[in-house]
Amino acid sequence: MTKHETLSGLGKHDNLIGGQWVSFDSYSDNINPSDTNDVIGSYSYGDAGSVEMAVEAARAAQESWADSTPQARHDLLDAVGNSLAARREEFGRLLAREEGKTLAEGIGETMRASQVFKFFAGEALRQSGDLQPSVRPGIDVEVTREPVGIVGLITPWNFPIAIPAWKIAPALAYGNCVILKPADLTPGCAHVIAQLLHEHGCPAGVFNLVMGRGSTVGEAIVTHPEIAAISFTGSVGTGNYIAEVCGKLKKKVQLEMGGKNPMVVLDDADLSVAVPACLNGTFFSTGQRCTASSRLIVQEGIHDAFVTELTKQMRALKVGDALDPETQIGPVVDARQLQSNLEYIEIARSEASEVIGGQRLELDTPGFYQAPALFLGTDNTMRINREEIFGPCGSVLKVADFDEALAVANDTEFGLSAGICTGSLKLARAFRRRAEAGMVMVNLPTAGVDYHVPFGGRKGSSYGAREQGRYAVEFYTTVKTSYVFAG
Ligand code: NAD
Repeated sequence: MTKHETLSGLGKHDNLIGGQWVSFDSYSDNINPSDTNDVIGSYSYGDAGSVEMAVEAARAAQESWADSTPQARHDLLDAVGNSLAARREEFGRLLAREEGKTLAEGIGETMRASQVFKFFAGEALRQSGDLQPSVRPGIDVEVTREPVGIVGLITPWNFPIAIPAWKIAPALAYGNCVILKPADLTPGCAHVIAQLLHEHGCPAGVFNLVMGRGSTVGEAIVTHPEIAAISFTGSVGTGNYIAEVCGKLKKKVQLEMGGKNPMVVLDDADLSVAVPACLNGTFFSTGQRCTASSRLIVQEGIHDAFVTELTKQMRALKVGDALDPETQIGPVVDARQLQSNLEYIEIARSEASEVIGGQRLELDTPGFYQAPALFLGTDNTMRINREEIFGPCGSVLKVADFDEALAVANDTEFGLSAGICTGSLKLARAFRRRAEAGMVMVNLPTAGVDYHVPFGGRKGSSYGAREQGRYAVEFYTTVKTSYVFAG
């Protein structure tokens, strides 16, 4: 094992452990899904031993980081936020290259990461406790928040810079040391954050990056007895497994998982609002968003006009290389996800009355391109409406009225985001109150959220405390109640 520096976008990229770039024997190539001939770089594949090293480094740093001043934490997070904003074109380009989001989406996501760091820089300064008189004479009761300790952060590939940011920033703001394992498909953006934290003077061991496979690095993080809490975003299967392990080990756990998000379009909806909202929610970011609108629940009076207009706009979407400024829909992230999408499109051919689009596309560069797909004449019992596809595919379900729309919207194991397009304040209010989802959108796409308010869902989509905004304090701190008798 040797130490050496690495540069963004060049050659080999190492793990950051105990303030050192540490190289291992095993590396994996990071491939551009828009052009599989383009190798972005090779990224270290750590193992259980690297997690052990990271835990040792974090253990050594935890006490002094917990005692560090709010000013020191603010300054580090603020500096990282500023660098992300200043270099958004460079990092947004890297993101588009490794994940396949369009360049505009990549730059936008980088700005989101910057905003998250700057928000939690402010939160580091705004920590407070609660002083109360006791019910007994002469005693004061003080409720304070303390860091949880070493936290393990495990992230997916679909928001490779924003999701690590919205876990790392609150973890550090509230005094925890971090071990981050990003998705093995998209390590580049996480490596960028590690570089920035390192360059801006993050103390050794406070932040550690261990890249590698879920089955080795992820497993070692989840099962390590000294890692006090796990924040995970990813698929339902992995999340359920992590919940079981954390339950047995009595670890604090937070899970953000899949979705099968409904978007209701009522007869009184404005089509010039509803169609763009559905187009965006269903197909943008190649449908690879946990908040994507995958079930379009449309009232019968507006159904035909809605389908005609949505089909027209869907067919006009330009699928292409993520770095081409004209591209609206980038490639699918990898061959496995593309294969899975195409299998669901085959299932749709047997379940739906009509499938529009959805074919594999061969473009100028070898990439994982797929035309957006719309499934018509579907009902809520079908597999295409119950399982998360995670691609640019949407189903239309025709319903008679608001009550049926609401029932269909809620008839799912998931509960992340739910949307409604209507001109009726009364029905919008009823939907907002009765939708079984963590987030509700009125006349807006189901995807696309603010960074300063809580994010998360219900039922099978999420478990544990909410992420983001001031609510993040719940997960990244533990409460202590002190009783003081002054005599
Ligand atoms: P995934 O579950 O395959 O992987 C997520 C992370 O878990 C990766 O870093 C992976 O390496 C790691 N992992 C895999 N096996 C592990 C194990 N046994 N122990 C510990 N870690 C392990 O998910 P993905 O394919 O990267 O992401 C797509 C999924 O993420 C979709 O289902 C999507 O809905 C979901 N997602 C949810 C949200 C949300 O906030 N609800 C946001 C984005 C993505």
